[in-house]
Amino acid sequence: MSTIDYPHLYIGGGWTSPSSSATITAVSASTEEVLGSVPEGTDADIDRAVDAARRAFDAPDGWSRRSPQERAEVLERFAVALEARGGETARRVSMQNGMPLAVAGQFEAFFPPALLRYYGGLVATTPGEEERPGMLGGASLVIKEPIGVVGAIVPWNVPQGITFLKIAPALAAGCSVVLKPAPETVLDAFLMAEAAIEAGLPEGVLNIVPGGRELGAYLVAHPGVDKVSFTGSTAAGRAIAETCGRLLRPVTLELGGKSAAIVLDDADLSSTIESFFASTLLNNGQICWLGTRVLAPQSRYQEIVDTVTGLASSLVIGDSLDPATQMGPLVSARQRDRVESYIAKGKGEGARLTTGGGRPDRDKGWFVQPTVFADVDNNHTIAQEEIFGPVLSVIPYRDEDEAVAIANDSDYGLGGSVWTADPDRGAAVARRVRTGTIGVNAYVNDPSVPFGGIKASGMGRELGPEALGAFQVLKTVYLDVSRRTSA
Ligand code: NAD
Repeated sequence: MSTIDYPHLYIGGGWTSPSSSATITAVSASTEEVLGSVPEGTDADIDRAVDAARRAFDAPDGWSRRSPQERAEVLERFAVALEARGGETARRVSMQNGMPLAVAGQFEAFFPPALLRYYGGLVATTPGEEERPGMLGGASLVIKEPIGVVGAIVPWNVPQGITFLKIAPALAAGCSVVLKPAPETVLDAFLMAEAAIEAGLPEGVLNIVPGGRELGAYLVAHPGVDKVSFTGSTAAGRAIAETCGRLLRPVTLELGGKSAAIVLDDADLSSTIESFFASTLLNNGQICWLGTRVLAPQSRYQEIVDTVTGLASSLVIGDSLDPATQMGPLVSARQRDRVESYIAKGKGEGARLTTGGGRPDRDKGWFVQPTVFADVDNNHTIAQEEIFGPVLSVIPYRDEDEAVAIANDSDYGLGGSVWTADPDRGAAVARRVRTGTIGVNAYVNDPSVPFGGIKASGMGRELGPEALGAFQVLKTVYLDVSRRTSA
């Protein structure tokens, strides 16, 4: 198989030579084959990228000064160029991180252009300023201005989807962006750069510098950056928040999760098993909002353990590019080791393994069997810490009050779901769970409504009109009272 190799970085609107000869190698999670390589960015590359973004933002005729309609037109061209590459984007992501191809078709191919169109449309149709009558006479202008140069740092698990949660509203608002992709998923980011060039994104509006955590930390603290938008682990989020706190730099943090899937005593889980799968095990368990703690009523406990066990043991494991695959490999050997260490902890703490727990019989790839533990206590490590793999813990509860208490007994608060025959009852329980988002009989990140977490799951919101606001800053102009009253 021929490899995909990029010798240049996308900075300042075109391909430029990197400042070092170091490279990042992309590897297939299913086959362990080398897929290609890109230059590894250095601090000097970040300096150049931030300079380019600064110029694009600060120039008198720069991106921030373009009309919302002009920006929406550019974003539409970007969307068209991404759509033309949608199949290849899905394929590259799927190979690199193990995401089943059908899932990649949605999250990685469909979602990014849809987000560009959503935010382009929103900014073109929402007034950017408002004249507000004052309490003291006269009036004031309240203007929404773009916040400036954005440092965007993304993880490998949904690399394009998460990237566009940030750059679609940022670009629509008039910000320029320096993006640092995770080293595990770089080939999709460079395909996105090809689309940006074809779409004619103005010079410096988007810049891409891949690298590891030190490079990310350098970008976060860079004096030319006005706002940081981060998705990743809670540990990294805390470090970034500390830096941003010291610098008084606005930051949005989308971090880890350990959400609850609350099965109520009237639920018919088998009739919603596909959405239950999508809410608990999608993308090989590598999604932050998955409901990995399954709360089951004691009155129907064994039946629910059997249903969840049956689901996990029936999943088709395979190469992520095979359309039949429902469960692909984990992103890396390191991630597999981490997930296996949690499985060992689950056994050690006395939880009962009902399926999985080992590796499927395959020669290559970082696979772990879909795994279910029953009789889990919410204080067990596997119920408290984020595993980020296909491992579910079933926890028994007595009544609704106890289910809510267990759901809320977590450092995290990102996702969640309630399963019931009565949607009103489901919504009533959902209101009692302390979390940023929660679904009834499904969990779907609709772009029109805010997404994000509380507690150790982060701060700020992505998606919805609220995310546009996260890349804007308000300016008030007190209009000349004498002029206005005489007018
Ligand atoms: P990670 O935090 O190790 O890395 C994420 C990104 O941040 C990578 O690009 C990495 O290079 C960079 N990075 C790491 N430390 C940094 C630092 N100190 N300063 C600046 N940049 C830094 O996370 P990961 O293991 O790659 O991703 C998995 C984690 O991401 C999980 O915990 C998951 O829950 C979380 N996640 C959250 C969401 C959400 O929306 N809440 C979505 C996806 C993933």
